[in-house]
Amino acid sequence: MKLKFEFNYTIDIQDCKLNTVLAAFNEMKTDLLNIFTQKIIEEFANAYMTQKIKPFACEQCNNNESFIWKTRHGKLTKIITILQPVFLRQLQVECKKCGHKFYITRSILGLERRKRVSKDTIKKFGLIGALTTYRVAEKIMKMFGIAIDKMTIWRAVQKTGSEIEFDVDPNEEGRGEADGTGIPIRGIKKRGQEMKVFVQHKKGGGVRIAGLSIGKYDRGWDKLFNPLIENIKKFPKFLLVTDGDTSIFKSIADKVDIIFQRCLWHIPHQMKYYLWQDKVKRKSDHWFYILAEILSICNIKSIQDEDRDEIIEKIIRSKEKQLEKLIEYCESNSMKSCTSYLNNAKPDFFSGIRNKLKGKTTSHAERVMRTINYRANAGKWSPAGALNLNKIRLAYYYNGFDVQ
Ligand SMILES: [Zn+2]
Repeated sequence: MKLKFEFNYTIDIQDCKLNTVLAAFNEMKTDLLNIFTQKIIEEFANAYMTQKIKPFACEQCNNNESFIWKTRHGKLTKIITILQPVFLRQLQVECKKCGHKFYITRSILGLERRKRVSKDTIKKFGLIGALTTYRVAEKIMKMFGIAIDKMTIWRAVQKTGSEIEFDVDPNEEGRGEADGTGIPIRGIKKRGQEMKVFVQHKKGGGVRIAGLSIGKYDRGWDKLFNPLIENIKKFPKFLLVTDGDTSIFKSIADKVDIIFQRCLWHIPHQMKYYLWQDKVKRKSDHWFYILAEILSICNIKSIQDEDRDEIIEKIIRSKEKQLEKLIEYCESNSMKSCTSYLNNAKPDFFSGIRNKLKGKTTSHAERVMRTINYRANAGKWSPAGALNLNKIRLAYYYNGFDVQ
């Protein structure tokens, strides 16, 4: 449909400085968008009324053919858009079959009934609120002449996030990493709850998010994994790299064939913590010896050789001996935390590599955790609020979620 506009507008402007001009324009475009939208929906509505079959139907009797106009200038209704709120005079028709009167404004705009914000706009606000703080989102939009309050953005984040579901992709790699990070929760000192993330490695490199949940520390992994079991089963074996005690995954290991592999990237970092617990002086001889040993044990370069498997097995055996020696060393020096940590991790040290599954020594999960923390640390959260926000955030950064 071709439409011609005539827009008469009078301004009272004090000077021609750019800022003054832009401010005046901003004011004008508010009026213009209302007039513009009103004219377009009216022209279309008039055209629809001449068609036999209408693109709307009576809410009472489902008739979609015979209607008469009640009004084209009904009461004002407000619709929030990404540009600014639009105020429209409602278009109302009467059903000739049953006499029911109803508004067709939202229906012909392609919006849900009685909703002030379209799904698409909610998604946009949701993404903005997930990428930056509510305060910054409000501020930046205001600078562009869009007055949206923090609550609208907050609600959009909750709605958008609650509709995002993660799953394992059977077409990507049969391995992933599980990790958790503390989230500041309202009413609790320090980091009240743990955000648990399960990332799956992609064939072309990099990772995608396969699961996300929030809850108590080290608990509730089964809740995260249960919905994913069906897709994990599609892999003959699934390699799960973790940085902690694998006993917390016990309930999952009973259902699918999972090979656990300790994250070799995390081990030297965690070792420093246990050395501190055992009161081993930083940069002392003991401290340097243990760190050097553990770094050497964890460092497994990928080997490109036709006899790779045999070579890897030899390397693993030698590293296992080295680990055994290190545990004895810690034990004989009464380093209780270090000893128990290494003993606990021992069974899962080389399991992935031994099963010919590439054991990566870099942590992708670590970067995902930073993506969470950048935003999570800028506030205190309700568990559901933090979960919804991070669902959007991670879906955007890792799973291709986007809005135009
Ligand atoms: Zn009707």
